Amino acid sequence: MKKKIVIIGGGVAGLSAGIYARLNGFDAEIVEMHSVTGGQCTAWDRKGYRFDYCLHWLVGTRMGPFNDIWRETGVLNNDVRIVDHDVHTKLYDSDGREFIIYTDLNRWEEYLCSFAPEDAAKIRKMCNEMRKSAFLQPYSDPPGLRNPVKSVTSLVKMWPIMLLFAKYGKKDCNYYFRKLGFTNKTLLGFFDSIYGSRDFSALAFIMMFAWFNQKNAGYLIGGSLPMAQRMTQRFTGLGGNLTTRARVNKIIVENDTAKGVILSDNTRIDADYVISAADGHSTIYDMLEGKYLTKKISYAYRNWELFAPLVQVSFGIRRKIESENPVQAWLVKDQMIGRTKTINGYSIMNYYYDPTMAPAGKSVLVMRYETQWDTWKDITPDEYKMEKDQIRSDATAILEKLYPGITADIEVVDVATPLTDVKYTGVWKGAYEGFMPSSKNMMDNINPFIPGLKKFYMAGQWLFPGGGLPPAGQSGKWAVQYICREEGKEFSVR
Ligand SMILES: Cc1cc2nc3c(=O)[nH]c(=O)nc-3n(C[C@H](O)[C@H](O)[C@H](O)COP(=O)(O)OP(=O)(O)OC[C@H]3O[C@@H](n4cnc5c(N)ncnc54)[C@H](O)[C@@H]3O)c2cc1C
Repeated sequence: MKKKIVIIGGGVAGLSAGIYARLNGFDAEIVEMHSVTGGQCTAWDRKGYRFDYCLHWLVGTRMGPFNDIWRETGVLNNDVRIVDHDVHTKLYDSDGREFIIYTDLNRWEEYLCSFAPEDAAKIRKMCNEMRKSAFLQPYSDPPGLRNPVKSVTSLVKMWPIMLLFAKYGKKDCNYYFRKLGFTNKTLLGFFDSIYGSRDFSALAFIMMFAWFNQKNAGYLIGGSLPMAQRMTQRFTGLGGNLTTRARVNKIIVENDTAKGVILSDNTRIDADYVISAADGHSTIYDMLEGKYLTKKISYAYRNWELFAPLVQVSFGIRRKIESENPVQAWLVKDQMIGRTKTINGYSIMNYYYDPTMAPAGKSVLVMRYETQWDTWKDITPDEYKMEKDQIRSDATAILEKLYPGITADIEVVDVATPLTDVKYTGVWKGAYEGFMPSSKNMMDNINPFIPGLKKFYMAGQWLFPGGGLPPAGQSGKWAVQYICREEGKEFSVR
């Protein structure tokens, strides 16, 4: 008899767990509450336009352990076209000054030095630290299952970045920018407005640019939905069992051992192992009823800062809007859009580089801005409807200012709020990437297993501050590696 693993949630983490479970001969069932898989990695179609919710960049498009995962799970194959943008983002401050973030570090360094020649030495130091991050070698195996010889070898190779870990692992960007000592006020103002205004990890900031510089964080043509569909096909193609529109209410635990799940219609699904790849907070506090709290888990959910929830306003435009860069951001404080007063401004993404997003000769523009969960949590249905109308109107007015005359060409305006995200994925407080990577947690994570609860593992973005698709995919794989160890099986990716 094959052992059965039931996996709660069909996002990227759940799909990954399902695929590796099948590759290792387990009977695997994914139980997903929405009608489609993908979780936050999704998109929706409106009047011929596709509005993507997730994929800007995928770490691992070129090499490394994440690349292995994307190939093993069907995300990448030889038919998937990858785009590496030259410009990451073009920013404007409230005085209309422009600032460009290039993905190529040499180019960015030259640009920054010409932007602030008086800070050239400090800029070169920052870019060199970013280059050193290229030595980072993410582990392919989870803690406890790493080959000791390989671990030591990679630690030696990672030596230059170990120094960065020691220097900046527990520091935020505010500290880092001041330590570098930028004197050009405009330069400092731009860095501060993007990362310095909150406790955003200095190390996360430094490392992010190494991925782009290595052309290892590209965009996949087609975006999020086909990515999730390829994983789903891989899972079902391997004989995995997918149950959608099925919400798990409870994880069955007997004698401190997970035995299966109970759905909202009281259906019981028995299993030998349970992997929860659903929202971390609801797994711990609802499905397990808070009975298996550790000090670490309680501390993290009480104290670690969350990603601020987003509002996404997607526009289908009946003409081509030319652009040379994917994202432009306006760092304006105090702009009212509906009830939200922006703190970090808003961005507009133009999908000109992906022909699958709009019919020929047309364009998709997507505005995103951060909001506060408190604005949404108690809103009544009538207020919610009015708020969405107001957002539609305010966002259109902003777009009209930036692209005079565009209003006449807008065919569709679609507003997705934090409540949309919560409704379809259950993500806690709309924190779409879980915990913000900060000076307090960048060197930390939540364990995938809970002491005292047997045959149960967690996967997904909530285990790793910073979240995102790579940790989601990797944690699904790791959960199955641990189960293989329990079963005395050699883990296989074929
Ligand atoms: C606007 C936006 C842009 C982003 N851009 C990027 C990017 O460019 N690169 C990147 O790496 N990441 C990006 N992310 C983050 C990325 O989408 C997420 O970190 C990742 O998809 C999380 O995957 P997950 O499987 O851990 O969780 P989720 O996607 O949240 O999946 C959880 C799944 O569990 C299901 N579920 C929850 N509760 C239950 C239940 N009780 N019963 C059954 N099913 C349940 C949900 O419906 C969902 O399908 C972005 C996210 C957003 C919103």
